[in-house]
Amino acid sequence: MKAAVLKGPGELVAEARLCPEPGPEDILIKVHTCGVCGTDSHLFHGEHLVTFPVVPGHEFSGTVEEVGGKVRHLKVGDPVTIDPNIVCGVCPFCRRGQIQLCEQLTAVGVNRDGGFADYCLAPAEQAYHLPDGLTLEAGAFAEPLACCLHGLDRARFSRGAKVLILGGGSIGQLMLQLVRSGGASKVVLSEPRENRRRLALKLGADAAVDPSESHAVLALREATEGGADLTIECAGHEKAVEQALAATRRGGVVLLFGVSSPEAQAHIRPYDFFLRELTLVGSFINPFTHQRALEILAAGQVNTSPLVSHRFPVEQTVEALRMSRSPEALKVLVQPGKDSAVSAALTPL
Ligand SMILES: [Zn+2]
Ligand SMILES: [Zn+2]
Repeated sequence: MKAAVLKGPGELVAEARLCPEPGPEDILIKVHTCGVCGTDSHLFHGEHLVTFPVVPGHEFSGTVEEVGGKVRHLKVGDPVTIDPNIVCGVCPFCRRGQIQLCEQLTAVGVNRDGGFADYCLAPAEQAYHLPDGLTLEAGAFAEPLACCLHGLDRARFSRGAKVLILGGGSIGQLMLQLVRSGGASKVVLSEPRENRRRLALKLGADAAVDPSESHAVLALREATEGGADLTIECAGHEKAVEQALAATRRGGVVLLFGVSSPEAQAHIRPYDFFLRELTLVGSFINPFTHQRALEILAAGQVNTSPLVSHRFPVEQTVEALRMSRSPEALKVLVQPGKDSAVSAALTPL
């Protein structure tokens, strides 16, 4: 099989490998689609707790090719998606129900081989059968969507809230659709790129603001009629964190969702938290939200196809990663079954 192997920081090589053999509790998945995520860029630069060498890719779907002898809930041919995060079940965090904080957390595509390959071996209990009618390509969005759901749970998003989203990348556009379909009374997106602002308006935002203009905070406060009840930072940028705090109403909640670089530091005034009674919330991965994400996708409450900007075959995973950081890209997908010749065609935003 073909696989994109990350051998060390900055060294990602497409190579031929033997197909792995499933153990009794594993399944072998024929990968259909694997999304490129911001985390993959962090791994590529050796910034995350990655185990080299590894095949990255943790946002994927495919069909079951082989099942281990003890697997009961899946059979050959089933369409599946993977929750990549594997927890120990016995540490104090797991036993409190905070599995995302597990002391022994590992992940498919981070510490064991993931989805940028023709085939991927995974523990069967990490696999979810796709609901009827959900395409394999849309199923690959279950993982990022599940992470968004956990963030909204953490921030106690409620119907009627005025929501401001900073950052119109694929995560910002997923958040936008989630809060819109979840009953937000107003949704405003802040994003410097014009094509992303246009897409947000198409996906249901009431307004889209360019944060690089002067008086951006004022414009954001105005667009949310005096400040957002909930502000979601999806840019992973310290400037956006500062804008998020400034653009939130008194008593509002700021959810820090974007993955910033480990060295980034934002400037905050503790006095604001006193005077304006702000709440700052963090969010990490997707505890118990993968199933809900699948139901939401199957119900059509979130549309993923307008988010896909590029599709690459597995041999071009390096190009896919590079493209995912370029201004013209939104969501970049690797599709192992894809013919290299077709992949060059771009879907303009
Ligand atoms: Zn991801
Ligand atoms: Zn644990």
